[in-house]
Amino acid sequence: MPSVNQELREELATATRILANHQLMGMFGHVSVLTEDPQRYLVCPGAGKRKDRCLPADVIELDLDHEFEPGLPLELYMHSEVHRLKPHIGSLIHVHSPALLTLSSMLEVPTELLMLHASFWPEQMPLFEETDLVRDRAAAQRLIGLLGDNALALLRWHGAIIVGSTLREAVFRAILAEQHAAQLITALSHGRPLAPVPREVDRAELYPRMLPPRTHDMHMSYEGSFVPVAPGAHIH
Ligand SMILES: [Zn+2]
Repeated sequence: MPSVNQELREELATATRILANHQLMGMFGHVSVLTEDPQRYLVCPGAGKRKDRCLPADVIELDLDHEFEPGLPLELYMHSEVHRLKPHIGSLIHVHSPALLTLSSMLEVPTELLMLHASFWPEQMPLFEETDLVRDRAAAQRLIGLLGDNALALLRWHGAIIVGSTLREAVFRAILAEQHAAQLITALSHGRPLAPVPREVDRAELYPRMLPPRTHDMHMSYEGSFVPVAPGAHIH
């Protein structure tokens, strides 16, 4: 289907395959990006499609008011509502990845910063504590309200959402968030004292020094060329 969003569609398909390659998305998980028209967004397919085989033609373009239907991600509304309520957020990624999921089940979620590149890590982790998936607009709006100005939020017993001002920033953050979550779990499990980045270091000031905008396309340019479409994908 010809679209003014063809370039963005290709970028989202590549991002979907990169995230699948990092085990961040498989049957579960999805990623969206806002288009130039702030009433419309692109999202990868739902659970019925292999994310590692995502092609530009598989990417779905929707209006913010579009209702869920089979074939779309079940938790679609977290995307429509972030793009509605926070149009400065260009992209949202939802994952059920192992380390972030493990953190989401801890009574006290650790917020120590153990990796400079993860300096977007919230000093107070937003925790969505509802015992259900995000199935409707109201739940999605509660989740996005809880997220506030943070880069990520955990969904208890479920996973996480990670956002970025652009798709490329969100991809970078999602990969680093899972790595940092795994690092926290490993570092805490040995029981020896940690040496986190000191609390007095301003993470908001550290972040743009560690991940300035010019670095945000690193995964897209570094991996996009060699994260191939998996065998079995049909060429459109
Ligand atoms: Zn989910």
